[in-house]
Amino acid sequence: VRTEEQIIQFLQTRHSGGGRAGGGRFGNRMAVGIGDDAAVFRASRGSDWVVSTDQFIEGQHFIADCHPPEVVGYKSLARAASDLAAMGAAPFCYLLNLALPRSRTGAWLDGFARGLARASRQFGLRLAGGDTSHGKTIGIGITVVGSAAHGTALTRSGARVGELLYVTGTLGHAALGLELVLRGVHGSRGAMPLLQRHYFPEPRLAVGEWLAARRLPTAMIDISDGFAKDLHRLCAASKVGAVVWEGKLPQFGIPAAWSRLRLKSLELALHGGEDYELLFTVPWRRRTRIPSRIAGVPVHCIGLVRSEGRIQLEGFTGRTRPLSARGWEHFRSGRS
Ligand SMILES: [Mg+2]
Repeated sequence: VRTEEQIIQFLQTRHSGGGRAGGGRFGNRMAVGIGDDAAVFRASRGSDWVVSTDQFIEGQHFIADCHPPEVVGYKSLARAASDLAAMGAAPFCYLLNLALPRSRTGAWLDGFARGLARASRQFGLRLAGGDTSHGKTIGIGITVVGSAAHGTALTRSGARVGELLYVTGTLGHAALGLELVLRGVHGSRGAMPLLQRHYFPEPRLAVGEWLAARRLPTAMIDISDGFAKDLHRLCAASKVGAVVWEGKLPQFGIPAAWSRLRLKSLELALHGGEDYELLFTVPWRRRTRIPSRIAGVPVHCIGLVRSEGRIQLEGFTGRTRPLSARGWEHFRSGRS
């Protein structure tokens, strides 16, 4: 059992010497790091700070008995980092708030710290401070700080009628992994590759930065709660509607070996959460500047921005139907 002080010290040592996270692109901008009463960031002319916070709560966002501690550590930071990607910001540092039952301050915390340190290195996010307390269940709060050239951070509200709709990567892979966990078959043979995106999602930081630096999108959002739900959010913020072409959606194909689960890949792609892909809009005249891959990640043109009021899915036959904002209900009642 570690004390609160020891927990922060432990997390700090797990993070030290962590490659990019140790100094990285903004090393000189952190005047005071972890260990003092507060961190001090040096403001720099011509750039904006981009800040976001995210909760990761036992029983709601993860199940401590199903999700390994490494996964919980990694994902807690990946989720928050994805919001920086959505703004097109470069990752700088993060702050951690941790509530832990005493029973989780030993081996569980070791695993958690391993996952967190891995994510920290991978995303270039340095631990700038934190606070811990004891709690009945595990609660993780993470605040991420990023940086963007002045005025270039992308918001959800800039989409205009007639623009094209784009999405990165694939949709539905993470939701399939979650289904395997909820159905208790995640330990089965052949399940591991399907769990990868649910366990270790990859926020599209490099793609977001690439797009923002070129000022190509007019609006952008990350897909955390499901493609349909986040499309509705972007449309609401921009006061527009949209039509999505079903045939262009990069659905994750469910391997035939898992057909017995009776899951529909379109359903997972539209309404499954946690893909952490980017959804963005681009004016028609800029379409030729969007390559088919950005930073190694496939980019797909999947629809059009229309006038406010309707968000529709256009099927292969050209027939359209309303695309509801139904998202992914965390650990649906009766499961977990
Ligand atoms: Mg977001």
